[in-house]
Amino acid sequence: MKFINLTRHTEIGANSYYFEAGGRRLILDCGMHPKDVGENALPNWKPIDGQTIDAILITHAHQDHIGTLPVLMRHQPHARVFMTEATSEIGSLLLHNSVNVMTRQREELGLTFYPLFGHRESDRAIAQWHLCRYRQPYTTSGNRVGDDGALTFEFWDAGHVLGSSGILLRAEGRTIFYTGDVNFDDQTIMQSAIFPQSDIDVLIMECTRGDTPEPAGWSRDSEEKKLAAAIDATFSRGGCALIPVFALGKTQEAFGMFYEFRRQQQLDFPVYIGGLSSKMTEVYDRRANQARRQWPRLQLMQDVAPFVLNGQTINDSPARPGRVYALSSGMMTPKTLSNIFARRLVGVPQHSILFVGYADPESPGGILRSAKSGDSVSLDPAEPPQTLRCHIEQFQFSAHASRESLIAYAAKVGPKKILLVHGDPPAVEWMRARLAGELPNCDVIVPAPGVEMEL
Ligand SMILES: [Zn+2]
Ligand SMILES: [Zn+2]
Repeated sequence: MKFINLTRHTEIGANSYYFEAGGRRLILDCGMHPKDVGENALPNWKPIDGQTIDAILITHAHQDHIGTLPVLMRHQPHARVFMTEATSEIGSLLLHNSVNVMTRQREELGLTFYPLFGHRESDRAIAQWHLCRYRQPYTTSGNRVGDDGALTFEFWDAGHVLGSSGILLRAEGRTIFYTGDVNFDDQTIMQSAIFPQSDIDVLIMECTRGDTPEPAGWSRDSEEKKLAAAIDATFSRGGCALIPVFALGKTQEAFGMFYEFRRQQQLDFPVYIGGLSSKMTEVYDRRANQARRQWPRLQLMQDVAPFVLNGQTINDSPARPGRVYALSSGMMTPKTLSNIFARRLVGVPQHSILFVGYADPESPGGILRSAKSGDSVSLDPAEPPQTLRCHIEQFQFSAHASRESLIAYAAKVGPKKILLVHGDPPAVEWMRARLAGELPNCDVIVPAPGVEMEL
């Protein structure tokens, strides 16, 4: 049984992992780096050069897990690709959007080999995906009931975003579980993960929040009230609020909160979102009845009724007082709607930028989040820096499990080995040290990028 971490560094980047057992070769996830461009945006597939992969399994449709799938499918034309139906629906929207982003980057950054794949190649790739149900065993040949039972896999609901899953693999008489991105708590829309509770030999676990303790006295309810109060205070100053969000997950969770604010007669306001967010929200709405979620009858696009902005209309859209702009990208990458709009708000004290999720510390979102009033901030290297005057506030609505709940889960299932992935070095190191202390009979490993290991 073999494992290779195919990311380029110990980080949350282009997530991808090689797994070999029972004579089958798999790749788990196939992401694009959210910050890097060019070759560095791809996973490092060099260690598997010349190998024929039997199957590619995708946990969910975030860029850092599915973003380079058409490229891998081109290199591995015989590999079958598996994911949940919701992931495929959202993933196809994401890949087509990514083609547009890369086409723009080709001009802006002079990357002549961009886009890495086109619309037609994406469509051909998408048509070949095998769609899986939760909690059903499949084999790499695509059959539900194993005819070549050397290796089977099952998708389990990870409670992170719509369609997200952890993957349970069985081979050589052992059980391996890859969490993907997981949340063990309910969010406003998504319900908490349902994961296997015993009989796992090897646990491959994400560590996103490993370097941040759960804030004392935190509850989702009180955090929602704080957010409502911050929006209200912005409106009282005569300003508007920008909430940078990921198109998948955070947009829909924010909508759930806006709906609650209105239902509880706390606050009612017009909302603006981007085109990709609106398309992904439509998938949440279409699948509202089939998915495990809160408010199963809530139709977000209809009941929150947002105005939809795009790359053109954002330029003619003034920052209107009393409005909330929930725009992607969540990290405020240059040229995205949230970045363009933020530059309009930064110098005006009435307005607010409210952060509700993860932003890499070096991204424009991360820089702005830790800046103080009066600081000079540069949100786009192509534009002049600005003096920060608007109100900045951070809220905790993570779609990822707290480090405490990850440790509790690992302790409950009691694996013989744990591999720690999907975390920045301090996060992974905290988790490694804590798990080694709490589970003395367990081998806790941080798999070095590109190095083959025997499981
Ligand atoms: Zn994710
Ligand atoms: Zn991720």
